[in-house]
Amino acid sequence: MGNLNRRTWGPADEATTDEKHRASLYVASIAHDKADATHLLGALGLLPKRLTAEHGMRGYRAGCRCTTCRKANTTRLNRQNRTAKGDQ
Ligand SMILES: [Zn+2]
Repeated sequence: MGNLNRRTWGPADEATTDEKHRASLYVASIAHDKADATHLLGALGLLPKRLTAEHGMRGYRAGCRCTTCRKANTTRLNRQNRTAKGDQ
């Protein structure tokens, strides 16, 4: 194996990141294109925060917790609560 994937992780979380890394490679192998891979990685929570392409509800689902994404999720939850109560 070559040095295709530079290691940037600390030894403490080696097992977890290795699993994530292998999962990421698998996703990349089955994805149709880069956008598909990004979407799948996001859905699996494997996408690094800085690579989240879109902020808002999609970003929140992808694991981003920036102000924009958290606010989008809060807005959605408030809307759901209102719908569940059936009025107002
Ligand atoms: Zn975000």
